[in-house]
Amino acid sequence: MSTEQIEEIKSEECKKESLNFIEEQIVKDLAEGKNGGKVQTRFPPEPNGYLHIGHAKAIALDFGIAQKYGGICNLRMDDTNPQKEDTEYVEAIKRDIEWLGFKWDKVLYASDYFQQLWDLAVELIKQGKAYIDEQTAEQIAEQKGTPTQAGVESPYRNRPVEESLCLFEEMNSGKMEPGKMVLRAKIDMASPNMHFRDPIMYRVLNMPHWRTGNKWNAYPMYDYTHGQCDYWEGVTHSLCTLEFVSHRPLYDLFVDWAKQVDGDDQPLDDNRPRQTEFNKLNLTHILLSKRNLLVLVKEGVVNGWDDPRMPTICGFRRRGYSPEGILSFINKIGYTKFDALNQMSLFESAVRDDLNKRALRVSAVIDPVKLVITNFPEGETETYTAVNNPENEADGTHEIEFSRELWIERDDFMEDAPKKFFRLGPGKQVRLKNSYIIQCPENIEDCVMKDADGNILEIHAELIPDTKTGQENSNMKIKGKTIHWVSCKHCIEAEVRNYDRLWLVENPRDEVAAYSKEHGDVRGIEAMRPFLNPNSLEVKKAYVEKWLATRKPMEYLQFQRIGYYNVDPDSTPEHLVFNRTVGLTDAWKKMNK
Ligand code: ATP
Ligand code: MG
Repeated sequence: MSTEQIEEIKSEECKKESLNFIEEQIVKDLAEGKNGGKVQTRFPPEPNGYLHIGHAKAIALDFGIAQKYGGICNLRMDDTNPQKEDTEYVEAIKRDIEWLGFKWDKVLYASDYFQQLWDLAVELIKQGKAYIDEQTAEQIAEQKGTPTQAGVESPYRNRPVEESLCLFEEMNSGKMEPGKMVLRAKIDMASPNMHFRDPIMYRVLNMPHWRTGNKWNAYPMYDYTHGQCDYWEGVTHSLCTLEFVSHRPLYDLFVDWAKQVDGDDQPLDDNRPRQTEFNKLNLTHILLSKRNLLVLVKEGVVNGWDDPRMPTICGFRRRGYSPEGILSFINKIGYTKFDALNQMSLFESAVRDDLNKRALRVSAVIDPVKLVITNFPEGETETYTAVNNPENEADGTHEIEFSRELWIERDDFMEDAPKKFFRLGPGKQVRLKNSYIIQCPENIEDCVMKDADGNILEIHAELIPDTKTGQENSNMKIKGKTIHWVSCKHCIEAEVRNYDRLWLVENPRDEVAAYSKEHGDVRGIEAMRPFLNPNSLEVKKAYVEKWLATRKPMEYLQFQRIGYYNVDPDSTPEHLVFNRTVGLTDAWKKMNK
């Protein structure tokens, strides 16, 4: 990028908003001509589960930065743990990134570098920078020391190079028991940075890898892999989350070693990847981390990774959040160097604003009671034109039918309605959406029909003539509100899935960890169960307007006066299924009071 281009971006940005600290660094690096004026990032998920909303924050940054500064972003699967990884996850990761609207330059794998990493390790052993340790994991841990107390050097630290080389081969032979030996970097057992206390570079797993088959039995560790992959690939800015701050010096050291072995012996050379850390996304009432989400799936707490209660990208997609809504939220919270817990209500407000622009307005009655328009002839039908989306004329219109018998929401009627109740009750007037103004009789006996137990079976009302839009009495002033309805004869039955929060507590991550500690280190579902909401899914029967049978899975809808919904992939024209995405107003705020 030329200096002029950089200056232009800088001044444009200053006009709009200030750059976040990562972009400031990038603009500075570009101005100083680092990495030859190039920007290259990567998104490095481990394919051990489905991506979640936290990953969307990293994706938006990695791909967004590359896009903005004319660079590229590769998708690199961090596949160094063959026990936990699966191609199903690789495919899901690609699908989710594309759905969010980003494009990678290449799909790469850490396993593409296994040979290079091995060769580098051999070289490092030869240079006396690495050795084979044959102590147990417990012994190694004991010798690690504490941040204030130096560790103890392994008795194998100074074993002859030839011996280490030989044992390293053995580690990969498939004949060595896992855990028997490890390859460690020889750095500094007294370093104040614990990651420098002779970190493990390789361990024996004796497991086939889905990409490399049986070629490898010893596999590299994350810290020994990530930086070199970045370096060999040409990554300039390696963006990751705050827990890696203390790993950064080791990242730099391994990159330096790799550069030296490659014959690139200038430690001050600017042509190297730089790691910068930002804060993880953490939302109230949500537990992230693929490991935890896998427990919920395996234990059947939810119906799979794409259950609309899951904070996975595919769960959010199925629930009806749009990629634009998700990204608008991520943009709002921004990137900082401090851990934060963002409110779910902020997320919902962002998606609600977005859905308001794109959702098609329809009518559905979820808790129905019958309303009979006594002065409308039996067997007759009127047809109206309903606007699909007042926010976007291009979305067009559709037809709805009106007849003598309608379904309305039970709570839109009150027998002994107080003065301030502006919906139906004896003597009260309301407008029926897209249709007439109606009025209930003053007398309660004329107003409702009840069964023997006193339950309301029918409500009666009369329409006031010529009060439809465009008619002479349409401007008639009434105190009542506009209520929604569907025609009994013309509507269809549907299944509505209403979701509530999956977690009862605001910060499940901390609560689950504290519970586990208090209860003898219990793990998995046992530590989670006390905090799970047993009523997170409510399935209801609803009556919806006929037009909804023509809608396709994943379409964004607004059930007027109720909330945003979408068509579930399970939905068929014979059995319609809708998911509640989010209410029209902030139910969380109310619940928290
Ligand atoms: P998990 O514990 O959920 O598996 P992870 O950090 O192990 O998360 P990776 O697959 O290794 O997941 O992550 C890929 C990238 O996404 C990393 O750069 C990581 O820092 C980032 N990331 C993971 N979780 C979050 C989060 N909550 N907020 C922002 N970025 C995240
Ligand atoms: Mg991980």
